[in-house]
Amino acid sequence: MQELTHYINGAHVKGTSGRFADVFNPATGEVQAKCPLASVSEMESAVAAAEAAQPAWAAVNPQRRARVMMKFVDLLHRDMDKLAEALSREHGKTLPDAKGDVIRGLEVVEYCIGAPQMLKGDFTDSAGPGIDMYSMRQALGVTAGITPFNFPAMIPMWMFAPAIVCGNAFILKPSERDPSVPLMLAELMEEAGAPKGILQVVNGDKEAVDAILQNEVIQSVGFVGSTPIAAYIYAEGCAQGKRVQCFGGAKNHMIIMPDADMNQAADALVGAGYGAAGERCMAISVAVAVGEGTADRLLEKLVPKVETLKVGPYTSGDDVDYGPVVTEAAKANIERLVQTGIDQGATLAVDGRDFKLQGYEDGFFVGPHLFDNVTPDMDIYKHEIFGPVLSTVRVDNYEDGLKLAMDHEYGNGTAIFTRDGDTARDFANRVNVGMVGVNVPIPVPLAYHTFGGWKKSVFGDLNQHGPDAFKFYTRTKTVTSRWPSGLKEGGEFSIPVME
Ligand code: NAD
Repeated sequence: MQELTHYINGAHVKGTSGRFADVFNPATGEVQAKCPLASVSEMESAVAAAEAAQPAWAAVNPQRRARVMMKFVDLLHRDMDKLAEALSREHGKTLPDAKGDVIRGLEVVEYCIGAPQMLKGDFTDSAGPGIDMYSMRQALGVTAGITPFNFPAMIPMWMFAPAIVCGNAFILKPSERDPSVPLMLAELMEEAGAPKGILQVVNGDKEAVDAILQNEVIQSVGFVGSTPIAAYIYAEGCAQGKRVQCFGGAKNHMIIMPDADMNQAADALVGAGYGAAGERCMAISVAVAVGEGTADRLLEKLVPKVETLKVGPYTSGDDVDYGPVVTEAAKANIERLVQTGIDQGATLAVDGRDFKLQGYEDGFFVGPHLFDNVTPDMDIYKHEIFGPVLSTVRVDNYEDGLKLAMDHEYGNGTAIFTRDGDTARDFANRVNVGMVGVNVPIPVPLAYHTFGGWKKSVFGDLNQHGPDAFKFYTRTKTVTSRWPSGLKEGGEFSIPVME
């Protein structure tokens, strides 16, 4: 049995707590590795190494720090197949999707190469007689991030690339379900030129997370994961005086107007609803069919596509649409929620309950499910299922569809499919959701825009990546300077104003 490590101060370090989590191969159900769960003292040793390394790193000029990111991009391309394979083996997603996971992280690293421009301060010449004023963005110091299982490459890179290029040290506490890729990324960052201690990986569970929250040296915490943990980390981290941003769960609605192209809408729904087995925070989990007959026309196209989805292990390469879910517990939770849907009166238009894959009977595969006649009081509507289960809700008109998306507690992503520009524009303006697609089902913004939901999908002020990341990982210092030629005799006792 492989025993995974932490990556502390430039070296793989064995866990010393005696506590481990099982890392599964979700396709076979086998435990393939043990992930060490850090104790407080292991976290403290990483923080000490980060604290020692960070000042010298912050003093490296931004262009040189950016060059480390350039090199890192090259190395990610060099090792793409290796990274994708390790990712799929622990997560279960298909190989093309695993490459997408790496590439969407890599794109943020590319954006971070612009750090010299992003970190340029503001300067006012002659703000007063002989007075100049300038603002600079300085690194926070030691920063930390806690990431979910579903994007083990992308989300760590969304955090550590901007943190590190801004001059911080970063401690990553990845998901204990798929920790191998984060460890590989830390090695590659060092190969790219990041000094020891600047990117460290400390594996663990709540104990490691609490050690981050309680540590006075750590200045900021980024979190991505489920909403209850996001709420906890935000409250605790803020109470400890840290800068915190937490991104939580989702229930993303796609509104299908009567004038939409139903072929396009159905194609969008199979990809966005079932891709990565529905284990995406931007997955579409609710299809809202607007107007008389729209649901019937949609389901006529959608049902055959859902019924013929190819479910299988990542080793089948391009030949599968989605793989297993991450754990037996995740599978059981999905099955439990599907049963509540049936019990509470929804119509199971595609029933994936009997799905079996020959040779992979112990894998965590879940067949595709499609519900019709779902109503807002049902558990399958209220809760995030995080599995290959799509719910169809029928509404009479556009206002009712908009209201559904707006009344849901989550507000990560949403989409509208229509040919009518006025309706699309109205929807984009009024909906209280952070990321909106118009005829685009998964509107994940590109690296140079920012990513973030609204309502219970987020806790904090700034989004991930794009310009917000440079704000989150730096603080502003403003200097007012006057040299002797501008000095007047005597003290001034009232606040200076510009008259
Ligand atoms: P999770 O909340 O179970 O775990 C996320 C992280 O928190 C992991 O590193 C885990 O070790 C840690 N953790 C778990 N329990 C903890 C506890 N009691 N105290 C402290 N830390 C704890 O989430 P997950 O299952 O890994 O990921 C799926 C969730 O993440 C879904 O809800 C999904 O919507 C969400 N997600 C959100 C976004 C976004 O940007 N909004 C992106 C990806 C995933």
